[in-house]
Amino acid sequence: MPTKTSLKRRPRCRWCGKRMDKGAHREVPEMLCFVRNEKAIRSRARPRVKTVSEAYQSGKLRAEFIGTDMEDKLMRRQRQMALDAILGLGENGYHIPPNVEMFNEAGYVWNQVANQKPWAVYVLVDGKRKRRRCNNLYEAVLYHRTIHKTHPSSGIVSMGRAYDIPSSLRFKKAKLPKRFKWCPYCGTFRVYIRVLPEQRFFTQIKRWDEKKKQFIWVDRKLWLTECQLCGNTNRDSIFRRSNQPWELRKIKKGVKRIKPRVLTERGQLARQKKRRRVRR
Ligand SMILES: [Zn+2]
Ligand SMILES: [Zn+2]
Repeated sequence: MPTKTSLKRRPRCRWCGKRMDKGAHREVPEMLCFVRNEKAIRSRARPRVKTVSEAYQSGKLRAEFIGTDMEDKLMRRQRQMALDAILGLGENGYHIPPNVEMFNEAGYVWNQVANQKPWAVYVLVDGKRKRRRCNNLYEAVLYHRTIHKTHPSSGIVSMGRAYDIPSSLRFKKAKLPKRFKWCPYCGTFRVYIRVLPEQRFFTQIKRWDEKKKQFIWVDRKLWLTECQLCGNTNRDSIFRRSNQPWELRKIKKGVKRIKPRVLTERGQLARQKKRRRVRR
């Protein structure tokens, strides 16, 4: 019969507590156990919290919670709070802004739980931007509901990530007046106005070429403009790709590789080279 001391002396894994001379650990070194089960181990070791704000310190997720189950929990909570807002707050003449549903459908990213306040309600007061930052969409919708009558220019804005225009809204954009652009942070169409003092920048835009019967990218010098509400500029990469013209292509059955129809400058050069080679 083993005595107490002999039991104690048997080596145990520092991370999972299982015996090193038995079972799976006979071939797995202690360090590999940590690497493999890091998330489970970190989750077990993390401090317990009662409120969400305890998990944050000066607006950022505390290091003890990074790489633990807390991240998944916070992401699930973001989704739940948004659903609660969509299902519960749209009454008494108040309509939930359509971007809230779009934000929720797009899913959540790590950046939106690593920061304590990834949402904001923006208001224009005498032409100046004011904002109130929020932890979740429920809080944001609730605040928007209280101020939307006195401040019709207010809107909910994402601070944690930018959103591409959903394909269903691309054709709606073509029908709107030209000054309405897709704002990737507002998640909706907004008026873009020139930044003062005026600035210009170089970029590429998609233009229809009558000769080639296709869209091509051309260099242009544009005025720097910004979203009237949140201040995002038209230099933003997601703004640039969301506000380009959109075309539909029919792809025949069985086609596996599709050539891009929009020519970039590099693509044009490659094509010219190919033609020259054929001529020779
Ligand atoms: Zn172990
Ligand atoms: Zn905006």
